[in-house]
Amino acid sequence: MVNEEKRKLGTNRSCIRDLFEYGMKKAAEIGRENVFDFSIGNPSVPAPRGVNDTIAALVAAPDAQRVHGYTSAAGAPDAREAIAKDLGDRFACGARAQDLFLTCGAAPALTAVLAALCVEGAEVVIHAPFFPEYTVFAAGAGMKSVIVPADTADFQLHAEATAKALTPHTQAVIVNSPNNPSGVVYSRESLESLAALLEEKSREFGHPIYLISDEPYRELVYDGAEVSFVPLLYRNSIVCYSYSKSLSLPGERLGYIYVPRQADDAEALMAAIAGAARAQGHVCAPSLLQQMIARCATLRPDVEAYDRNRRALYEALTEYGYECVRPQGAFYLMIRSPRGSAKEFSDRAREKNLLIVPCGDFGCPDHLRIGTCVSWDTVQRSLPVFRELIEA
Ligand code: PLP
Repeated sequence: MVNEEKRKLGTNRSCIRDLFEYGMKKAAEIGRENVFDFSIGNPSVPAPRGVNDTIAALVAAPDAQRVHGYTSAAGAPDAREAIAKDLGDRFACGARAQDLFLTCGAAPALTAVLAALCVEGAEVVIHAPFFPEYTVFAAGAGMKSVIVPADTADFQLHAEATAKALTPHTQAVIVNSPNNPSGVVYSRESLESLAALLEEKSREFGHPIYLISDEPYRELVYDGAEVSFVPLLYRNSIVCYSYSKSLSLPGERLGYIYVPRQADDAEALMAAIAGAARAQGHVCAPSLLQQMIARCATLRPDVEAYDRNRRALYEALTEYGYECVRPQGAFYLMIRSPRGSAKEFSDRAREKNLLIVPCGDFGCPDHLRIGTCVSWDTVQRSLPVFRELIEA
């Protein structure tokens, strides 16, 4: 006998994976250059040279075996110190090494935080549009997901909408900015309003509501957009970060959880996170990557190519008549289905070898996500297909 819920989860692939797998098969048949695959968030910009050079030097060093060994469960002290220093230098948040728990990316950071906060009847509030795995992670942790519907006019956060989702069972609220799938960066004002609401409701309910800021796209921003550092706006914040996108290392698995020391019950929370990660069996993030980040924590991505794709796609698609909110971050943009359901539109696009993701699982059933982390050639050659689809 197997666990039925887990069997279903393992059998029903996400719609992103479905399209991605289809794209790989199709590429083998008709050639990679003939499939316009906008389905998955795999960075198309190479990892910074400093990252690759550092990894090569670490592996070639005489004491290389050390970099393949176990580290402390929460991460090697020098890696945690380098990240804490970088956060402190950038945001004056006073981060210390002991406030960080290193993880295998943002996904296990989120599962550990949610499990650490799960008490009897716990609820987590999620803002649409959202990364579909949030609801899977919440269920896995034993929490109920409560969804705040998207405001499709601007995809911004609106505290009045969040207020309706909060109950005495709310343990946490998740925000993700720059956002996957909309590419929108939440304004400082909207985050300040959310912070004021959570302060008020925490007082009313008699327990802290933690604000989980999932921010793997923090450094991927354009048009000079400001990404607020959430712990500076709200004391009870928990940051879940990943180097998957910012350093183009999604397959290598490195990220962290940052619990600011001023958060309520910070020490107990950190211990519960360590306990949750232990129970989930993912302590000790990849040691080689930890040693790399100890030396490369100040490296930033080159976003020029993403920006060029974003501008070209946004300008062309809006000119053709697609409804789209201008993205200022990450490497996605969303369009409203111009005709029929988003799934039907995605199916029609697939017939022309254009792979775009219907956003039902992201909490926006009328929209589709376009991943702009593709080659310039893909952008250029896909534009006539986008035009044909809306004109058909
Ligand atoms: N959160 C968001 C918003 C994401 O888009 C992703 C990956 O695409 C993740 C979390 C998971 O990131 P990681 O690869 O670091 O586990």
